[in-house]
Amino acid sequence: MIPILNHQDQDAMRLACRLSAQVLAEVADRVAPGVTTGELDRFAADRMASLGVASAFYQYNGFPGCCCISINEEVVHGIPGPRILNEGDIVSLDLGVRTGGFNGDNATTVRVGRVTPEVDRLCKVTEESLWAGIDQARAGRHVGDIGHAVQKVAEAAGFGVVRDYCGHGVGRHLHEDPQIPNFGHPGRGALLKAGMCLAIEPMITLGTYRVRVLSNDWTVVTRDRLPAAHYEKTVLVKASGAPEILTQA
Ligand code: MG
Repeated sequence: MIPILNHQDQDAMRLACRLSAQVLAEVADRVAPGVTTGELDRFAADRMASLGVASAFYQYNGFPGCCCISINEEVVHGIPGPRILNEGDIVSLDLGVRTGGFNGDNATTVRVGRVTPEVDRLCKVTEESLWAGIDQARAGRHVGDIGHAVQKVAEAAGFGVVRDYCGHGVGRHLHEDPQIPNFGHPGRGALLKAGMCLAIEPMITLGTYRVRVLSNDWTVVTRDRLPAAHYEKTVLVKASGAPEILTQA
């Protein structure tokens, strides 16, 4: 069953998502050469504490950080620590806030200083694919419409679409039904209805879409170690028209 939120719950979601977006924007502002991913994570933890909200990720299935921070060949689920950001890196910051019984979830990829033109294009296309997917999150459409839209943008640009990880419903729990793959066929999969909250999150690669998990049991990397980009927003399906973007600072 895919949860459908009533108006009161939608307001609680709006708050969790707005604060998630605010903290994400503040963490993104701290990205610079020489900064460690552990420092970014501690900053996020401090900001959440001062806003009086919890990290939706900390200790989720035992995850040790408050954000997932993934550099270059790391696709998602990077563990914050001593790794230092260097000029030319790209870094996926993925974080969620839990408050009032609801969770927001969002991610962005930040360029560290100047990046190569092809990596810059990877980021642009991945963000564009996110917006194409979001535009399909409308009542009466299907989960496959979202995946198809993401896949079309990414593959038309010559990039890979990660198959092993996907977007998801989000609300009372960080991960709810439906799963939202970043590939698919129009008209297939679960029917979308007003009141559903979806976290749409394309993970797009410069080379192969095949990934593996490092020995820390968390960090997902591309098999060819070429970079990947990752953007995510939580949206609310409306009775008509385009979805409401909930993770907006
Ligand atoms: Mg997510």
